[in-house]
Amino acid sequence: MDEKWIKILCGRLYTGLKSEFQESAEILIQGKYIKDVGFNLPCPENTEILDLRHLTVTPGLIDAHMHPEFFDWKDVYADTIYNSDGYRTLATYCTAERALHGGFTTIRSMGWFREAYELDVKRAINEGHLPGARLVVAPHLLGTTGSHADMTQTVRTNPILCDFMENLYPGLGNGPDFFTAAVRREKKLGADFIKIMATGGFATPYDDPDDIQLSDAEFKAIFDTAKELRISVTAHAYGPRLMKKLIGFGITGIEHGSLMDEETARLFEGTGTYLVPTFCPFQEAIYPDPENMAKKSPEFQRKLGIYQERMQRGREIIVNSKIKLGYGTDFVAAYQNYESGMEFRCMKQSGMDTFRILEAATKTNAEICEIDSFTGTIEPGKYADISGWKRNLMTDPDALRDCSFVMKEGTVYEAKSYLTEL
Ligand SMILES: [Zn+2]
Repeated sequence: MDEKWIKILCGRLYTGLKSEFQESAEILIQGKYIKDVGFNLPCPENTEILDLRHLTVTPGLIDAHMHPEFFDWKDVYADTIYNSDGYRTLATYCTAERALHGGFTTIRSMGWFREAYELDVKRAINEGHLPGARLVVAPHLLGTTGSHADMTQTVRTNPILCDFMENLYPGLGNGPDFFTAAVRREKKLGADFIKIMATGGFATPYDDPDDIQLSDAEFKAIFDTAKELRISVTAHAYGPRLMKKLIGFGITGIEHGSLMDEETARLFEGTGTYLVPTFCPFQEAIYPDPENMAKKSPEFQRKLGIYQERMQRGREIIVNSKIKLGYGTDFVAAYQNYESGMEFRCMKQSGMDTFRILEAATKTNAEICEIDSFTGTIEPGKYADISGWKRNLMTDPDALRDCSFVMKEGTVYEAKSYLTEL
């Protein structure tokens, strides 16, 4: 087959396999795939040479926690009523496209209350109709009445509207039978994983991050069904009480974990359960900034006030632990939803080592997304998903917001800087 050959000359190369940069390495690409990685690689005569010797080259990055259904994070509070499914679908595509230009070749979409047709966006991108980051999708959030999965909380002063809208949320229900059916339906639709809302949160106004919002029988129904159908489950969870329970159910990963304590951290380490700690939305709580805080909803501000100290302690415990960390922004909650490089800034600010962050955003995230057989590291046989960065990743917290090169499956796309778009 007549496939195009490309050789990339790297400045520094991080492959995702070791905590090091290699100087002056080369990557040889045939068609969509990496053929070889090394030095002075022999190559066919017509090989195109891409000179990236001014850049640090990494695997195409992965954002493992996104809500891509919004053009603007402020929409999230009005979304219950004002945004159509079609509008959110367009936003989902827009986010995937912007992520790609920013050097993130895969994003994991955590689901929403109503349809945003993420699976259709995923399909259109995978079939090559539209350029964009690869999507890994949980179509709906599963949760109970009044939980963090129940955005009708925002219209509770109108119970008739509230009840009517509850019926529009396919992932919202109660009782083990409901959740058995809900997991089966997600699987049928083509979900890559199951997302459950197991504690309250900060974006929903009338629940609490320490609540446990499903019964043991409901949890059991979800985990038993998912196990039979061989699909993984991840949970939105903050408090240690719930995280311990979820690990007991054999969950593979947890999102946020912001109220982490030492005992639970040891449990994560012992079981190898991964955590996508989503530092971005909670920077204001960890490093108080009155100006940014004032932009949040009053309920968000009230909850952050109550939980601030425990979250600061939780952040320290996570940073100092050996928990297997993923990299995810949880955008909609804080910044624009295409600035996936922002989590790097937040992790650096919390004292995390650059290589730990890079491993989270590449190798570990690929494992979390269950796509590590074909992406996440730069090694022969994997897709040529490759990003390039002109800033110094060891010292510059904005390095991943300023992309200079992006390739997905062997095709080069326009790279963009999102540095000025805050
Ligand atoms: Zn989220």
